[in-house]
Parts: sequence; structure tokens; C-alpha cells
Amino acid sequence: MFAGKTALVTGSTSGIGLGIALRLAQLGARLMINGLGDAEGALAQVRAHDPRAVHHGADMSRPDQIAAMVRSCEAQLGGCDILVNNAGIQHVANVEAFPAERWDAIIAINLSSAFHTMHAALPGMQARNWGRIINVASVHGLVASAGKSAYVAAKHGLIGLTKAAALENATTGVTVNAICPGWVLTPLVQKQVDARAAADGVDDAEAQRRLLAEKQPSLQFTTPAELAELVVFLCSPAAQNVRGVAWNVDGGWIAQ
Ligand code: NAD
Repeated sequence: MFAGKTALVTGSTSGIGLGIALRLAQLGARLMINGLGDAEGALAQVRAHDPRAVHHGADMSRPDQIAAMVRSCEAQLGGCDILVNNAGIQHVANVEAFPAERWDAIIAINLSSAFHTMHAALPGMQARNWGRIINVASVHGLVASAGKSAYVAAKHGLIGLTKAAALENATTGVTVNAICPGWVLTPLVQKQVDARAAADGVDDAEAQRRLLAEKQPSLQFTTPAELAELVVFLCSPAAQNVRGVAWNVDGGWIAQ
């Protein structure tokens, strides 16, 4: 399906990003993955589908490194046709207790990084008159939760950025959309499960159940594989007129 296309997925050494990278590679795209942690392990998984896949270690809080990564993607892979802005971090505290340094890091990694990748990748997409940009926002781009001010602000901002860029490219072959997961059981959420287990004095399974019961009516986690299928659809020819949406996959979270 994506033979001849190239894809850059930020934050794809783990969780949702890795799930998306694996599926795009399975469907024939040439992949550049990015992220911290076990890059070798993630790259080995992606290379099972795309033996030429590469990893770039750009720190997504650093605009200079982000620009270099997009340049490297274009030079090494021959372009950046599909861009998935997925890297993200979380910190939970009320505003008065929120460390300013964590605020800055969350805005940089969860919001500004998507501006910097798009700023660098859009000229090439426009020149080829084909591009797909998928911004991994969150239900927290649509509604808030207490304790997550920086994350909620960044994800609302990311949806705004998505809409503006979608409009700027509306008459072209470049589409820009956001996806908005509810709870997905990745390392980012496991930390919140652990905090819940410690606070309530319950085991992991009960902490998971309580987290879901609070927000997600389906009482099931969304999976990276399910989100990857939505990305595949947004990259498909059938989605060529889907522009500027913020598509939630949240077990009913924001229907309440
Ligand atoms: P994760 O912790 O499993 O993965 C995060 C990825 O981002 C990793 O590859 C990590 O190395 C990378 N990353 C973090 N800081 C980085 C930096 N400075 N430079 C480069 N890479 C960096 O988390 P996840 O749950 O898979 O989250 C992926 C995205 O999905 C995030 O944007 C997150 O906000 C969003 N999201 C997650 C959930 C959920 O429930 N897990 C829900 C909604 C949205």
C-alpha cells in the first residue's frame, strides 16, 4: 500500500509510535524512527518489515536537532512523505506545584516539536504535491483533566496547529490531521497506573480498572495497533479529503 513512500515517526522507540511505525513498514513504507531508550530493539522490530529502516536520535526538545533529522530523512530515504508527530511526555501535578522546567519540556516535546518537523518537511511535501501529516494529540486536546495543565495545553495547541496547517494546504495533496487516543497502556500510562496503585494501596490490575472506570466507558484500553489502523486510513487515498480533523479513539471518553 505504501511502496515508494517514506515515513518519519517521532517517538517511535516505544508505545504508540512503535505500533504505527511497525504497521507503516509492514505496508511497504521506508521508515525513519526516532526516540530515546531502546532504539536498537525498536529498530530491529521495524527492520523485520523494512530492512532499510533507520533510527535518528534527535532530541525532540531541540529545534536544531529536529531540522537535522528531517534533512537526514530526505537525504537518506529520498523524502518525507508521511510524518507522524508522536513523541510525547507527561507530568502530573497541580499548577501551583508544577515545576516550570517540566512545563517547558512538555510544551517543547508535545507541541513545538510538531511545528519544527512540519516547518522542515512541508516544503518537500508541497513540491511533490503529496503528503500526510498525522499529529498524535489526545483526548486531552479536546477536554481537560486536573493535574495535567501542560499536557492539556500542549495537546489543545497541537490540534490548533493541525487545523491551521490543514487549511494552509487544503487545495494541495498534503493533508494534516490529528488523532486523539484515550487511555492506551504504554510506559507513559503505566507510570500513572503505578502512581494510582501506590496512592490507593491496590494492585496493578485494580489500579488499571480504576483508571479506566474514571474516564473511559468501554473499560478497555485502546491499543497501538488500533491507532496504527487509523493512521493507515488517514494516509490512504480514501482520506484525501479528510482535513484538519481531531479524531478521538477513546472508548467513549468525550461522549460523556
Ligand atoms: P511512550 O512513553 O511509550 O513513548 C513516547 C515516545 O516518545 C518514546 O519513543 C520516547 O523515547 C519518545 N520521546 C520522549 N521524549 C523524547 C525526546 N525528548 N526526544 C525524542 N523522543 C522522545 O508513550 P506513548 O503512550 O506511546 O505516547 C506517544 C504519544 O501518544 C504521546 O504524544 C502521548 O502524549 C500520546 N498519547 C498517549 C496516550 C496513552 O494513553 N498512552 C493517550 C493519548 C495520547
